[in-house]
Amino acid sequence: MAQIRLDNIRKSFGALEVIRGVSLDIRKGEFMVFVGPSGCGKSTLLRLISGLEDITSGTLSFDGEAVNRYAPSKRGIAMVFQSYALYPHMTVFENMAFGMKLSGRTQEECKARVEQAAGMLQLSPYLERLPRQLSGGQRQRVAIGRAIVRDPKVFLFDEPLSNLDAALRVATRLEIAKLHRSMHGTTMIYVTHDQVEAMTLADRICVLRDGVVEQVGTPLELYETPNSVFVAGFIGSPK
Ligand code: ADP
Ligand code: MG
Repeated sequence: MAQIRLDNIRKSFGALEVIRGVSLDIRKGEFMVFVGPSGCGKSTLLRLISGLEDITSGTLSFDGEAVNRYAPSKRGIAMVFQSYALYPHMTVFENMAFGMKLSGRTQEECKARVEQAAGMLQLSPYLERLPRQLSGGQRQRVAIGRAIVRDPKVFLFDEPLSNLDAALRVATRLEIAKLHRSMHGTTMIYVTHDQVEAMTLADRICVLRDGVVEQVGTPLELYETPNSVFVAGFIGSPK
């Protein structure tokens, strides 16, 4: 059974329909990448899955259960955005611990989880710093750490590398791939308009165009057998 099932999902903003009948199954533990040009609906689709936006029609299910009406906090999901949105007056430790405050964990448990996540992300030396004392790459790792400590079943990433310079983009991309391997069974859904990111990170890629799915497949399938010139052009294959 799919962990996440999108069944004929539609989303309109007023008269503008931006998601136009998307159906897709995502397996537990899968690294699924949504690619497509700017404005095709990638961020909107992530926001629908997270519950930050209401679905206009169609059914979204997690583990076979319709969650259309579930609040974001009830979905077991953590989202990492392109702008890291850290609290400027809180230290790295406090930023990472903040998401756990309401979870009923003891202070010791919170501390242990933050330290573990900081270790995974090479942030241990920086726990007492403020965000402005960090580089862009370190800040984005704090944002990822803040998601990790909440122990989500599903991670959503919306272009998390786009504010980083080229070298940091590569380093952080490798970090995210490593993270996925080390968090066995954690599903990641990752939005990008960058072909290289899509090809190197994905178990499967979903190519979106104007709010519909053009093709879904492994990077190799899309490269070798693109079903349209659009997909071929996007993936960089010679069709
Ligand atoms: P992408 O992330 O692929 O660049 P988006 O999902 O952000 O695309 O946007 C898809 C389309 O939906 C765009 O035309 C955008 O202008 C429109 N859109 C997104 N959010 C809103 C909103 N809150 N209100 C009105 N239109 C929106
Ligand atoms: Mg977007």
